[in-house]
Amino acid sequence: MTVIDGEAVAAELRSELQSRVDELADAGERPTLATVLMSPDPASETYVEMKQQDCEELGIVTRDVELPTDAPGEELFTAIDELNADPEVDGVLVQAPVPDHVDYRRVVERIDPLKDVDAFHPENVGRLVAGYPRYKPCTPHGIQRLLAAAEVDPAGKHAVVVGRSRIVGRPMANLLVQKAAGGNATTTVCHSRTEDLASQTRQADILVAAAGVPELIDGAMLSPGVVVIDVGINRVEADTEKGYELVGDVEFESARETASAITPVPGGVGPMTRAMLLYNTVKATALQADVEIELP
Ligand code: NAD
Repeated sequence: MTVIDGEAVAAELRSELQSRVDELADAGERPTLATVLMSPDPASETYVEMKQQDCEELGIVTRDVELPTDAPGEELFTAIDELNADPEVDGVLVQAPVPDHVDYRRVVERIDPLKDVDAFHPENVGRLVAGYPRYKPCTPHGIQRLLAAAEVDPAGKHAVVVGRSRIVGRPMANLLVQKAAGGNATTTVCHSRTEDLASQTRQADILVAAAGVPELIDGAMLSPGVVVIDVGINRVEADTEKGYELVGDVEFESARETASAITPVPGGVGPMTRAMLLYNTVKATALQADVEIELP
């Protein structure tokens, strides 16, 4: 049984990306990511800081735009328009969630698709579904890379994705089903209305759990040899200093008895998600500057 080390795979990718940032710098291009924060969720600030720190470590320049949560939506749209129009900015990321008085869909649609490093804009979603992705969303893309690093080829396998969210489950299923490297899996998508989840998960050669329900899936719901990718990050009360601990959507201890490989939480998918944002920012820079670099 292998515990797939997301930190290690992400570190290798970051070092490859570092050399692409250097190549771009030699060509006179400094990748620049703008983050926009207008979130009512206090954790969002930490997420944005982490993303900025990841960028700075690689020499990617960051721009920090912060708006009060009670600002009118128009202010957010104007901020996005300015970043879209700024030739020095390569990527624009609006940290979700946005306050209730702002329509998130309009926010996503306002970002220039070429600067949409989250890959949430309908144009980028459409390209992915159509089979010619420009940017891939960070979490599913990171999972695809993790599988490749663990030498798990989805081709011909039965992949079961638990969760159908716009940012994880659905794009994950789209990537797995695609006629392309890292795809070609027979793919099932399960969700909150799926009846008898266990009968589906037991058919998985590759299981991607992205339901956001602590330890929803245990070893009894898996078949021997399955590769388990646990996307879930759930806080559960625990007798620790912080008063909580992080658990996945999979019960690690029972699943590891059955699985051939499994990602831990934390240290599995999370670091890959972070690395893929850097990847998309580097790609966005190269695309917009029309500099040819070979991405890792
Ligand atoms: P979401 O709440 O938007 O979607 C959850 C999905 O799971 C829904 O489509 C729902 O239909 C399905 N679901 C819920 N309960 C279910 C059940 N009992 N049986 C079957 N399906 C069920 O969540 P999300 O944004 O996709 O995130 C999912 C989890 O992944 C969360 O824990 C989140 O924190 C985590 N996450 C981790 C990363 C990472 O980098 N590791 C990135 C994004 C999200």
